[in-house]
Amino acid sequence: MKGYAMLGIGKTGWIEKERPVCGVLDAIVRPIAIAPCTSDVHTVWEGALGDRHDLILGHEGVGEVVEVGSLVKDFKPGDRVIVPAITPNWSAVESQAGFSTHCDGMLGGWKFSNTKDGVFAEFFHVNDADGNLAILPDGVDPAAATMLSDMIPTGLHGSELADVQYGDKVCVIGIGPVGLMGVAGAALRGASNIYAVGSREACAKVAKEYGATDIINYKNGSILDQVMEKTKGKGVDKVIIAGGDVDTMDEAIKMLKPGGKIGNINYLGSGDYIKIPRVEWGYGMSHKSIIGGLMPGGRLRMEKLVSLMLTGRLDPSKLITHRFEGLDKIEPALMLMKDKPRDVIKPVVIIK
Ligand code: NAD
Ligand code: ZN
Repeated sequence: MKGYAMLGIGKTGWIEKERPVCGVLDAIVRPIAIAPCTSDVHTVWEGALGDRHDLILGHEGVGEVVEVGSLVKDFKPGDRVIVPAITPNWSAVESQAGFSTHCDGMLGGWKFSNTKDGVFAEFFHVNDADGNLAILPDGVDPAAATMLSDMIPTGLHGSELADVQYGDKVCVIGIGPVGLMGVAGAALRGASNIYAVGSREACAKVAKEYGATDIINYKNGSILDQVMEKTKGKGVDKVIIAGGDVDTMDEAIKMLKPGGKIGNINYLGSGDYIKIPRVEWGYGMSHKSIIGGLMPGGRLRMEKLVSLMLTGRLDPSKLITHRFEGLDKIEPALMLMKDKPRDVIKPVVIIK
């Protein structure tokens, strides 16, 4: 089969590989719709995870099951399925402890395009099919459903990590597709003011549609000054970080009220340390907490999140700015994610 791969740091291209083999608990899936992610860009062009050779990229997609292992109970060939970007080993002790993302070691639930071939191929392998796949309900657009693999669960996880409560003032730093789902998550959880930090007009418009009350352009001056001015010097209750770099944490801590929480879902592709400002962190005594997380993945989350789409509470199709047809179009789609022209939020490639 053919697949679009990371050939080495900074290099991508098409390769031929054997079709993956299905274990007794697993499934082999053919993609119906796939999407490139900013994480693929960090992995390839920043070499963020270290070198990878001939590793098929991609971790966002919906597909059709073509084969299942003998112990798979709930899925069969022909089923159309949602595939989460994170596919934990659900019997690992870390999963039993509530950290499926870190099954079998830190970030171990992230397999596609990290430790095994991803979804930008004619076929891909899904471990623990009963624990990780979810049926794609009839009537849900497969292109929109690709946002369930990663953008929706990750953005919403940002609002979970920040523990957004009714009436909270929330700042969402970075409003690419992940941050936009962070805005939507904060609104769903009852935030009052949502300050969305971004510079692209296309993203700002969609941020308002998902519930942002104010747009803060970081190119017009310090984010911190702008947030402090809007909150009359008090700061915000919660911060969701979905963009920026190792210096962004400094601003997030400074804009946070004592007792506030920061949920980081940004993938820090470079830099060695993150600085915490001593004074604004209350000399170590501010009760300002920081938690960063890879979204937990798995079937239950996919089933719950697709029900938000079915009930009309969340419409991810606003994220999709570019649609391509045919597996070979994953290359231009990925380049859009890499180059980020101003009009792009998220491209999707439809295969059937
Ligand atoms: P994106 O590049 O489309 O969006 C990032 C946003 O951050 C943009 O709006 C950009 O303008 C803004 N930004 C850049 N520099 C900034 C700065 N200095 N201050 C404030 N804002 C700044 O990316 P995306 O696709 O939305 O993904 C966001 C991040 O989430 C990426 O790092 C991605 O790899 C990561 N990610 C994490 C997970 C997870 O499970 N935790 C999953 C998927 C993606
Ligand atoms: Zn992704």
